[in-house]
Amino acid sequence: MVTQSMTLPASLHVPPALAEQLFSHLFPGDGDEHGAVIGATVVETQRGTRFLARRLYLAKDGVDYVPGKRGYRMLTAAFIRDRIKDCEREGLAYFAVHCHGGTDHVDFSRDDLASHERGYPALLDNLEHHPVGGLVFARNAAAGDIWLQDGSRVELNATVFHGARRRVFQPAPAPKPAADPTYDRQSRLFGDRGQAVLASQKVGIVGVGGAGSLVNEYLARLGVGHLVVVDPDRIELSNVPRVAGSHRRDALPWLTKPERPQFLRALGRWLATPKVRVAQRVARQANPEIGFDAIRGDVTLDTVAASLTDCDYVFLAADSMQARLVVNALVHQYLIPAVQVGAKVQLDKAGTVTDVFSVVRPLTPGLSCLWCNELIKPAKLQEEALTPEQRRQQRYVDDVDVHAPSVITLNAVAAAYAVDNYLMSTVGLRATDYRERWTRFHPLTSTAFDRVIHEIPRSDQSCPECGSNGRLSAGGQRRLPVKSTAGV
Ligand SMILES: [Zn+2]
Ligand SMILES: [Zn+2]
Repeated sequence: MVTQSMTLPASLHVPPALAEQLFSHLFPGDGDEHGAVIGATVVETQRGTRFLARRLYLAKDGVDYVPGKRGYRMLTAAFIRDRIKDCEREGLAYFAVHCHGGTDHVDFSRDDLASHERGYPALLDNLEHHPVGGLVFARNAAAGDIWLQDGSRVELNATVFHGARRRVFQPAPAPKPAADPTYDRQSRLFGDRGQAVLASQKVGIVGVGGAGSLVNEYLARLGVGHLVVVDPDRIELSNVPRVAGSHRRDALPWLTKPERPQFLRALGRWLATPKVRVAQRVARQANPEIGFDAIRGDVTLDTVAASLTDCDYVFLAADSMQARLVVNALVHQYLIPAVQVGAKVQLDKAGTVTDVFSVVRPLTPGLSCLWCNELIKPAKLQEEALTPEQRRQQRYVDDVDVHAPSVITLNAVAAAYAVDNYLMSTVGLRATDYRERWTRFHPLTSTAFDRVIHEIPRSDQSCPECGSNGRLSAGGQRRLPVKSTAGV
């Protein structure tokens, strides 16, 4: 076996319910050592390997986890054999877990490492296609010794516990980073460590129209290191009042104004600046060093959705059921937290305003699901699958060329609140008992009490999207609900 110096980092991601079970099992308050096994999906990305915890097997003290021959405690051979079979059946990596004392630092003992040397080569043979390894936890730290099928051995850089309050464990606290004077005023709030975390993040934005363009600007100015921005559209003149950083000239007004002949207007629309380019311009102005993937495309295409699978967080600012379906699947399947942002002005048939609201819906893997909360409507999905021409013929909608009203300030309320949510959770400022809520702002409502509405999002264990036998932590084992570009 060769110990490889890590070129790409490896991280373990744990959904909230598993994290809770694991912690109460490892740290029941007796100060003793306890054991478990995690079965994890393996996702290879350009940023390294992500292990997604899908199964947790708790080892019963005295039955499955017994006094060791060399070390203090060990898993019984029968327990290991059964769990290896479970992992093999489900196509998962096998990780043996135990706890040590201590708080912010943790490391394997010499006995631990010796037992890995003795046991893991045989387990690798048994598992055939997947890594095996050991994990050790302290109250605020985690380390991993992972053996890959190709004979290399890697350490775990980070263990991420997802939930309303996201926590990242490392073997030891990261060294204090150098202060960047650019961010002096904000790092006074969340520290140079918080600023360094932001710089290390890769964040996706789906849709850079009204709300998404503001999210893009906020994230770039906050110092987020890498943005992946997805939008198929080009700027039109009627977008300029809402799209942050857009100029009238991006819409080529001399070609697209109404008195021009049809073909010139079509040409103008075809040559206008893509929204992702406007977003890139804005982001680069704020931070010339920022990593920026401008993806002119639709998130419902497989190749486009795949570009989001290594993100740390995703903002959903596109208003289509298809986009909701894809992002909701990404959240649970790849354990990537997200938030849906948007604003709506509702009119009745006579054109009278019936409701105005901004909405922010954080989507936490395994905790809050657009599908469970009936925010993905099958009839609408079907309708969107039709071409505009088919839609006109079937009269599902009155006129596809008439756009709903939209105003920058309504988007700004949602965008600011959503980015604020992301920021506080990412830099670790949230209270230990923080509880996530979906929020709607209704500025026109007469009673003050009803102007801000909070909802507790639901999540159903049996849901095929967010449930533990559904997409949750399934990674590449499931196909995302996307259209294939193969052969196009
Ligand atoms: Zn140990
Ligand atoms: Zn669900």
